[in-house]
Amino acid sequence: MAENRQFSPLYGLDRWGAGLLDVNDAGEVTLRAPNDGLPTSLPKVIEALSERGIAAPFLLRIHHFLDQALLQLHNAFQSAFQSTGYQGVYRGVFPIKVNQQAEVISHLMQTGLPLHYGLEAGSKPELLIALSQPRSPESLLICNGSKDESFVRLATLSRKLGQNTVIVIESLDEFDVVHKVSTELGIRPLLGVRVKLTERVTGKWQESSGDRSTFGLGAHELVTLIDRMKAAGFLDCLVLQHSHLGSQVPDIIDIRRAAAEACRFFVELTAMGAPLTHLDLGGGLGVDYTGERRSDENSVNYTVEEYCTNVVETIRYAMDEAALPHPTIVTESGRFVVAHSSIFVFNVLGATLYDSATKPDTQEGDNHLLHDLMAVENYIDSNRFQEALNDALYYRDELRALFRRGQIGLAELARAEQGFLYLASRFKATARSRDVTGDAQAQLGSFVDYYYGNFSLFQSLPDVWAIDQLHPIVPLQRLNEEPTRQAIFSDITCDSDGKIDKFILADGASDALPVHDLKADEPYHIGVFFVGAYQETLGDLHNLFGDANVVTISLDGQGGFNIEHETEADTIAEVMSYVEYDPRDCLDAFRKTVERALAAGQVNTAERRMMIAAYKDALAGHTYFD
Ligand SMILES: *Cc1c(COP(=O)(O)O)cnc(C)c1O
Repeated sequence: MAENRQFSPLYGLDRWGAGLLDVNDAGEVTLRAPNDGLPTSLPKVIEALSERGIAAPFLLRIHHFLDQALLQLHNAFQSAFQSTGYQGVYRGVFPIKVNQQAEVISHLMQTGLPLHYGLEAGSKPELLIALSQPRSPESLLICNGSKDESFVRLATLSRKLGQNTVIVIESLDEFDVVHKVSTELGIRPLLGVRVKLTERVTGKWQESSGDRSTFGLGAHELVTLIDRMKAAGFLDCLVLQHSHLGSQVPDIIDIRRAAAEACRFFVELTAMGAPLTHLDLGGGLGVDYTGERRSDENSVNYTVEEYCTNVVETIRYAMDEAALPHPTIVTESGRFVVAHSSIFVFNVLGATLYDSATKPDTQEGDNHLLHDLMAVENYIDSNRFQEALNDALYYRDELRALFRRGQIGLAELARAEQGFLYLASRFKATARSRDVTGDAQAQLGSFVDYYYGNFSLFQSLPDVWAIDQLHPIVPLQRLNEEPTRQAIFSDITCDSDGKIDKFILADGASDALPVHDLKADEPYHIGVFFVGAYQETLGDLHNLFGDANVVTISLDGQGGFNIEHETEADTIAEVMSYVEYDPRDCLDAFRKTVERALAAGQVNTAERRMMIAAYKDALAGHTYFD
C-alpha cells in the first residue's frame, strides 16, 4: 500500500484507549499484550471465535486488562505512600455489586492474593459469595448495606474462621441487631460505621450525596451510636470508619474535600474513645470514558495516581495534625478495577441509508415544487449551502402537505422523497469537505443513517439506556479506510428507546458515529468499550432477549489468545422459563394445534414435521440473530 492512512484518531481511540488499544496497519483494532508482547487483533479474535461457533453478539473479557487495573491501583497507593512518607498500608476491597460474575471475582481474588485484596458485600447473596472465595488472611471482608439478623449472624460467625469480616453499621437499629447476635453467639465482632459526609459531590449522583444521602449516620446519630456502644461495652469493636461519595466522581477537588471531612470524623470518633484503625473511603474512583480528562459526567479530571496522592496526602496531613498514627486506608473502587476489562461486540445486520445515489425521473406534469426541489442541486456546492438545505427541506415538506390534501398522488410523492434522498447524498458529500456549523449542522444531523445492530440495549448496555452512560464505540475493522457514513445504531428490540445515538469522538460527544459502507459479503463488527462495570447483571429481558455469549480470553503475547472461560448465551427455552413458561408445555400445546390442523386437512404430515422441527430448533437456539 502506497499510503496508509489511519482513521482511528477520528474516534479519539488514541486518547481513551491509551495503554490498552491500538490500530494495526490493516486497520484493525488491537489489544495490547502484557510485557510489550505482540498485540492481538480484535477482528482476528472475532473470526477465530466464530470458527469455534461463538458468534456475535458477545461480551469479551480480557484477563490482562483486569490485572492491569488492579495492579495500577495498588501500585499508585504504594507510590503515594513512598512519596508522602505515609506509615500505614492500603487494603483494597472489590465491591461485588459492580461485577458479580464468578469468573471475574475468582480471577480478581487470584491476582489480588499477594496484595491482600478483599471483598465488599452489600447484600446477603454477596456475603455468601465473599465467604466462598479464597482470600489472604490479611484481607478484609467489608459488609455494607442493610443487614438482617441472619446476615449479621453469618458475618459474626466468620470471625471464628479468622476472617476480617467488618460489619459496617449503617443505622442505629442495626447496632441493636449486632448487639443481640454477638451476645448470643459470644463472639466479638469487628465493627465499622458509615458516616454521612456533609460535602456534596458533582456528577451523576449529586442529588443523593451529602446530607441527602439515604445511607450512613449524621453527626447526631453518630454521637448517639457511640454512647450506646459505650454503654453496651462494644466501643472497643469499632475499628473502621466508612464513607462513600457515590460512583464516578468527576472532580478531584470533591475527592480531596471528602477525604478531609472523613478525617475530621475519624479524629473526633477516636477522641471519643473509638479504637479506629481503618479509614474506608468507599468507591467513586472514576473512569475516563471519553478520554477528555475533565470533570464531566463521563470523564474525570484526574488519574488514578493523582487520586491516590491526593487521598494519601490529605489523610497524612490530618492524622499528623491530630497526632494520630496513620490508619490503614481502604477503598472500595469497583468501576475503576473492572470497567476496562470488557468489550461488548455486536455485528451490524443491515442499514437504512438516509440518502440515495439515484436521481428520480421527474415528469413534465409534476408539480412545480418537485421541479424546484430538484433544482436545489445546482447551488449546493456554492456558498449557498445553508440556503440550499433550507429550500430542500421546505419543498419536501410542501410536497408532503400536497399529498395529504390529495393534490398529488403516491407516485409523485415517491419521486419527491427519492429526490430529497438524492439531494441528501449531495449535501453529505459537500459537508465532508467543509466546516458545517449553525442550523446546517443540526439539519444534517437528521440525515444520519440507521445501522441495525444485533444486540439489545436493555440487556447488554443498560446504563446507556438508563443514565445516558457514554462508552467509546468504534468499528473494529477498516480503520485504514475513510468512514464515509454517519450512523446511529438501532438494536433488535421493538422499542424505539433501543438505540445508541451519542458517541465519543476526538472532538467530544457526537450525535452520530462515522462508519463505513456495508459490504454484502463481509461482516461489520462494532466494539463498545469499557463495559466491565455495572452492565452485566443490571440488564433485563426486554422483548425476551437474553444474555449474550461471554468469553474470557488471555493474550499470549504472540498475537494470539487463549480462551479461559466461556458462558454460552441464553437459549430461547431458558429465557422462556425465566418468565415462568415451561418450554415443554409450550411445545406440547403447539404440537396439539398442529395436530388439529392436520386432522382438519390444513397441513400435511411433511408440513407437520417441518413445523415441529422449526419450533424445537428455535427453543434450543439463541435469542439473537444467527
Ligand atoms: C457501589 C459502591 C461502591 C463502588 O463504587 P465505584 O464507584 O464503582 O468504585 C463502593 N462502595 C459502596 C458502599 C457502594 O455502594
